[in-house]
Amino acid sequence: VYEFPMPDASEIERVLSGVISGSPHASPLMESLTPDLKDRLVKAALGLSLDQVARAFRTALIGKTNVDSSLIDGVLEEKGQMIKKSGILNLVMNRPALDDIGGLENLKEWLRKRTDILSSEGKSFGLHLPKGVLITGVSGCGKSLCAKVFASFWKVPLLHLDMARLYDGTIGEPEQALQVALRTAESVAPAVLWIDEIEAGISIQSQKAGGGTQSRVFASFLTWMQEKSAFVFIAATANVIELLPPEVLRKGRFDQIFFVTLPNPQERKAIVSIHLKKNRVDLSSFNLDMLVKVTEGFNGAEIEQAVNGGMIEAFNSGRPVNEHDMVISAGNIVPLSTTMREEIGRMERWAYNRAIPASR
Ligand code: ATP
Repeated sequence: VYEFPMPDASEIERVLSGVISGSPHASPLMESLTPDLKDRLVKAALGLSLDQVARAFRTALIGKTNVDSSLIDGVLEEKGQMIKKSGILNLVMNRPALDDIGGLENLKEWLRKRTDILSSEGKSFGLHLPKGVLITGVSGCGKSLCAKVFASFWKVPLLHLDMARLYDGTIGEPEQALQVALRTAESVAPAVLWIDEIEAGISIQSQKAGGGTQSRVFASFLTWMQEKSAFVFIAATANVIELLPPEVLRKGRFDQIFFVTLPNPQERKAIVSIHLKKNRVDLSSFNLDMLVKVTEGFNGAEIEQAVNGGMIEAFNSGRPVNEHDMVISAGNIVPLSTTMREEIGRMERWAYNRAIPASR
């Protein structure tokens, strides 16, 4: 059995030149194709077959007389379709930027230190590419947000692996489906593979309940993680980390285990500002310190909810939003930290010497 690899960058570049020279607007298209755009277009098309590459370029070029970054979205859309066909992978187009995350400075610092790991200078220096990180902690504190930000930071595609679907039987045998998904992820490399609630698929309980299949699926995932040669960075999140078998947490599997917990006052200020700005609110007229006080014990999702609630208050009153709307809205929220106090304390004790805090 011969397995043909997907076309590499040079083959894709050749297809791109072919498609452009076959277009009626060949010369203006060629002139507007800067080296940077060409590089990004070729990278966007990695992971597609030659036929798909040609089709994606042709479709994206319809009606165009010059090359711009909208072309890249067209190619990514085509790739998203192909990835969807693998069953459990999705190409996530909507990704936060690093500035959309308030606080969590340790995690950001980790990432910033690795800004150029994919550069040719990094390669010739002999840098080891990171395998992945596991982010755990209190619900609503930005685990998924962080998992997604790796892809936008490195400007690579973000693939989402649906662990629950893997086991529900709708896409056939889990072992095979996982193999297809991992191979697809490798063909798209460099990429980030985001696995939300990794424990949903590979917990001790589910391994016992599911008999051999889940253990085998899990074992093949770990082997792949150890041996993969392409840069597919795993950004996994876990809500109930105690459920994960010790092999996952063993040193060398993930480069780092981050723990996120309730934001401190400084972080709450940053999160409030981010969400106010998203609602196009002028921050200069706001008493942010007051909002920091009334959101004590809130997680990021609850702060966002308080801001959105305040916007609705103001809209219904037919005037611009002010901090009193936010205070009223925040007063109507019972934070998770009240209802789950013991649970959060238990998580923090677990994380104390097993993970590093995502916040500084
Ligand atoms: P869960 O465990 O319940 O899935 P989570 O930890 O993955 O939660 P997210 O889904 O990342 O939490 O966060 C939910 C929403 O809360 C985000 O979409 C974002 O709008 C907001 N949020 C959470 N933390 C932050 C933060 N640090 N900065 C800005 N927004 C935040």
